[in-house]
Amino acid sequence: MSFAELGLSEEIVKNVTENGFSTPFAIQKEVIPEFISGKDILAIAQTGSGKTAAYVIPVLQKLQTKKELKSRHVRVLVLVPTRELAVQVAEVFKTLSSGLKNRIKSLAVYGGVSINPQMMNMNGVEILVATPGRLLDLTLSNAVNLSQVDTLIIDEADKLFNLGFEEDINKIFSQLPTNRQSALFSATLSEKVETIRTDAFKNPVVIQVSENAKIVDKIDYRAYLVAEERKGPFLRYLIKNENMNQVLVFVASGQRADNVVKKLVQNGIKAIAFHGKKSQGHRTDALVKFKAKRIQVLVATDLASRGLDINELPFVINYELPRSPKDFVHRVGRTARAGSCGEAISLIGYDEEHHFKVIQKKNGLRIATIETDDIDIRKY
Ligand code: AMP
Repeated sequence: MSFAELGLSEEIVKNVTENGFSTPFAIQKEVIPEFISGKDILAIAQTGSGKTAAYVIPVLQKLQTKKELKSRHVRVLVLVPTRELAVQVAEVFKTLSSGLKNRIKSLAVYGGVSINPQMMNMNGVEILVATPGRLLDLTLSNAVNLSQVDTLIIDEADKLFNLGFEEDINKIFSQLPTNRQSALFSATLSEKVETIRTDAFKNPVVIQVSENAKIVDKIDYRAYLVAEERKGPFLRYLIKNENMNQVLVFVASGQRADNVVKKLVQNGIKAIAFHGKKSQGHRTDALVKFKAKRIQVLVATDLASRGLDINELPFVINYELPRSPKDFVHRVGRTARAGSCGEAISLIGYDEEHHFKVIQKKNGLRIATIETDDIDIRKY
């Protein structure tokens, strides 16, 4: 089945195809026609299933029919749990709308950074991708008004609830018109998702697709643009801030591995180096401890990028990128093994940006890069 058979306009199909999507993924085949027919949707879909494009594409089609918007009123609201997802989703909107005649402005807003630039950027925004707390701040200061929203998307709903956003979401619901189309995406159908279904949805179509078997599809990718001299503290900030209890960090050399370990240990994080200059005994010991979660961080060279199999390793961090695009796949493949999900995070130095583009292109990946200059990491 092709995108053209899903009820999309010729222009949208052309644009989607030009962006490298030749055939729809299962979730897209199910969601797109229902969305276009105006139904509310509750979809159970994992990251990696293609869920983002499943709502981005029909939303873009809907927005081809223009609607008069008052100043600072948005038409589409996408609620997401994290800053990273906000940036990523806004990026997908930008990419998939780039060739359309009718320009569409989307904006990501999230907490942890200054609110002023977000307020100033609000003019002419039709699609707002937001984390709940920051969105409420923006509505309170009249920077945005939700009374003309005709499309609500809730993405990674289970994560939103796990992070305790329920109350914020209810406050947001009270500002939305009842006459709207809503779609919710969640990895699981929890009790809270069920409650939302009865409270906020009109007779939704429930869609569930079987899991995608491809291992790379289960990896959640993130990339941060970090100045070389800030990489050390930024790594510690990530590990502490996100309570990462088992992380494999890749670096370019044995010496760098030793240095990174030293700094982690000085900052109270249990870490061991793993590279070719260490004795076999040290290496075996390091692996045993890491697998048993007796140490939190293993800092390794590409020696560990192939074959190392750790059950349900949740995080891989590229402190430095590998030279070969193939090694990138091997490194990130250490996570999301045997059916579990994992996150692969890359810290991109300013002089690595071009190389990162090459790596993505060679591996058919598209990963938005997140700026980090405004993140305060002094205490790390
Ligand atoms: P998501 O589950 O939305 O995070 O998407 C996972 C990955 O699949 C992203 O890298 C998308 O760019 C990619 N993707 C989504 N839909 C398609 C498609 N129809 N064809 C090829 N790649 C896709």
